[in-house]
Amino acid sequence: MARRNVCDTCGGNLLFSPDSGLMECEHCGNAIALKKSKSASRPLTRRYSETYTMTPTESTSQTYLCSSCGATVSFEETEVKKRCPSCGDISLNRQQRSIYVPDAIIPFVVSRDKAISIFREWIGSRKFAPNNLKQMAKLGKISGLYIPAWNFSFRLVVGYNADVTRTEERNDQFFTKHFYVDGVEEKTFANVLLTANKRISNQTVDELEPFDASKMIPYSNEYVFGFSGLDTDLDIHESFEEVRHEKENALKSKIRSNLKEKYETIEKLDTFDQLKGCTFSHTYVPVWANHYTYNGKQYHCYINGQTGKATGKAPKSFWKIFGLIGGIVGAIALAAIIIF
Ligand SMILES: [Zn+2]
Ligand SMILES: [Zn+2]
Repeated sequence: MARRNVCDTCGGNLLFSPDSGLMECEHCGNAIALKKSKSASRPLTRRYSETYTMTPTESTSQTYLCSSCGATVSFEETEVKKRCPSCGDISLNRQQRSIYVPDAIIPFVVSRDKAISIFREWIGSRKFAPNNLKQMAKLGKISGLYIPAWNFSFRLVVGYNADVTRTEERNDQFFTKHFYVDGVEEKTFANVLLTANKRISNQTVDELEPFDASKMIPYSNEYVFGFSGLDTDLDIHESFEEVRHEKENALKSKIRSNLKEKYETIEKLDTFDQLKGCTFSHTYVPVWANHYTYNGKQYHCYINGQTGKATGKAPKSFWKIFGLIGGIVGAIALAAIIIF
């Protein structure tokens, strides 16, 4: 059952306000403090192991399936004009299903009005964008969206051993000297944020970063009133293994290049890796999503709901790019004329 957050004064919906950090009535402006009690017992971070299984929870929010992009979206308030925050479509169908409710949340700090002005500024600063883009871009429904993510902190230890050689000179003669070397390369990775929804790429998350993880608090659905949340539909182990592999490879190339600096040949390099002290938070991160149209084509812009940093796609003007290339070709031609 959807839990309504109703204003005592007028019966309107109470929504979370990023400006005040309070629940505010959308009709009369009545403001009250958040209760926050419901999920206070949830752990903020969990220890990661390869056997960890996520359990879906019967949702208290309203869950919808977008028939356009396939996203599962949750809303808290009962009367909201529903639009898929992932693709901007309106074809949302009510679902009765369990979802993965996060342990933690980074609440919105950037208000809707602020997000709209950031979008206007962003669109006005696009290089190669058509001149009329700022006037012609139709602001879609800008929606406040919580993206599910895993915030990992871990230490990786890569041990190695190898047979190496170095040429040494003695009495004007050169010898190839063989050595056996071993050692350890280790590094701590803190707050590595990975998307938990397949419609939002890690590239988008990277472009929106940084999120201030110190502002992460235990999840409470009150922060979602007035916003929406995407469900977790990626596998935590697959996602983590990918990033672990990438970090391991970085440490291995560091080992290789350190050895190359000291020795001439490296043979039989063996490495062993170990994951130490891995913890994670399953958290919601705040993003303003705007799916806007220009000349009938859809583009998107995402804004970090904590810092206001914007990223996205904008149309490019053929003539501006043509002009730039023309300019470069012209400059080369001119240089050629001057030189010869
Ligand atoms: Zn009210
Ligand atoms: Zn959609």
